[in-house]
Amino acid sequence: MLQILIVEDEKPIAALIRQALTHDGFACTCVEDGLEAADLLEHNRYDLILLDVMLPGLDGFELMPYIRPLEIPVIFITAKDAVADRVKGLQLGAEDYIVKPFALPELRARVDVVLRRYRKTDMVLHVGDLTIDTVAMQVRRGQTEIALTRTEYNLLLLFARNPRRALFRETIYEQVWGGEYPYGSKAVDIQVQHLRKKLGWDKELQAVNRVGYRLEVDT
Ligand code: CA
Repeated sequence: MLQILIVEDEKPIAALIRQALTHDGFACTCVEDGLEAADLLEHNRYDLILLDVMLPGLDGFELMPYIRPLEIPVIFITAKDAVADRVKGLQLGAEDYIVKPFALPELRARVDVVLRRYRKTDMVLHVGDLTIDTVAMQVRRGQTEIALTRTEYNLLLLFARNPRRALFRETIYEQVWGGEYPYGSKAVDIQVQHLRKKLGWDKELQAVNRVGYRLEVDT
């Protein structure tokens, strides 16, 4: 499990981040004080740090010299309109920044991008009896490759990354096709049918009444 250190003294924000990232399968540790963070960094290994700028003890900028030798990617959490802070954070070696208040999908996307850049996320996913190689974009059952269209592949990847979670048609559409879900569109249903057929996943790709679909497999 990937370890994320959240250094943020505004409790509601820290709690929100922790909740979202824990839900996504990360192990999160929260601290409110820069000195405490420095202490944790000395004794523990983290895969990513979300770092507020204004902190008691040491501030976020002062912490960067402790973090850089450890080669742990950092995403700064900055206040609205603090352009100078964002620039300084990036100059000090942060990978990215996020501006308060932020939407959780944005936070998740930035975390994903940074972890991928550091090759921390899984390159190969195992779902049910399938193996998905996300670099080669190949799907296999045992030694047999299953040929999927681009849309089917993206759809499978979305389900594989969200097993046992009900996904709304709208969400599926936005994630796989991009853009807003056209009213009354059958595109999602049709592609799920194709995927069921190609994978033999009649039972696994379950319809969720009035919502959309859920993948029921072991991971
Ligand atoms: Ca703060």
